[in-house]
Amino acid sequence: MYNPIDLSKKTEELVLKDKKRKYYRFRPARFYGGIATADIVGCNLRCKFCWSGNGVWNAMNIGKFYSPEEVAEILLNIAESKGYHRVRISGGEPTIGRQHLIKLLENIYYDLVFILETNGILLGFDITYVEALSKFKNLHIRVCIKGIDYKEFTFLTGAESGYKYQIKSLEYLRDSKISFNVAMVSTSNDIEPFNDRLNEIGLSKIMLEKEKIKLYPQVKKRLQKERIINYFR
Ligand code: SF4
Repeated sequence: MYNPIDLSKKTEELVLKDKKRKYYRFRPARFYGGIATADIVGCNLRCKFCWSGNGVWNAMNIGKFYSPEEVAEILLNIAESKGYHRVRISGGEPTIGRQHLIKLLENIYYDLVFILETNGILLGFDITYVEALSKFKNLHIRVCIKGIDYKEFTFLTGAESGYKYQIKSLEYLRDSKISFNVAMVSTSNDIEPFNDRLNEIGLSKIMLEKEKIKLYPQVKKRLQKERIINYFR
């Protein structure tokens, strides 16, 4: 078991140097109708179903450091060459390294939508982070909630805490002017308890996606090792 806030700090030491952050790949991707994607190194969770592999589990030995300006330039070039209108960070947790992320957002033109895919933990931990993000009008945040409740969160991530911050991030985003939606990973067919939670916090109308877990070979191997693969078939 681990504490995701402590793990965020430890990960920061590995993946941040001044305002530079580690990335391991830049690519055009077909999601969202076509999107320029930067795959980042490092995360504050260890989801058992994560496809990212080394980008999460081997942050020390993978990737290179890039300044926010360099990342912006690469993303803008990909978007321009492919005719995309969206850019995103994927592969790890982009909210680790607040200054880097804010500077990166400042370098993305307003006519491109920046999709921030996050587990929301650092946003729920510190309301000022959400406030700082709210000045970017081209930002859309996709918060991926791990599990319908704390018990499933712990089962899926192995973390001792953090679920309350995931939910808190939704409340903070609700009160900000930031565009956002919710994605949900669950092994349960019945996500009613989570829908009830959304109702309680006034988000019954929020767009909710059920994320499908892809059983890539390394994901399959990890789930088999944990003896939980049957939950994901
Ligand atoms: S939060 Fe995302 S990147 Fe991090 S371990 Fe979970 S699935 Fe992987």
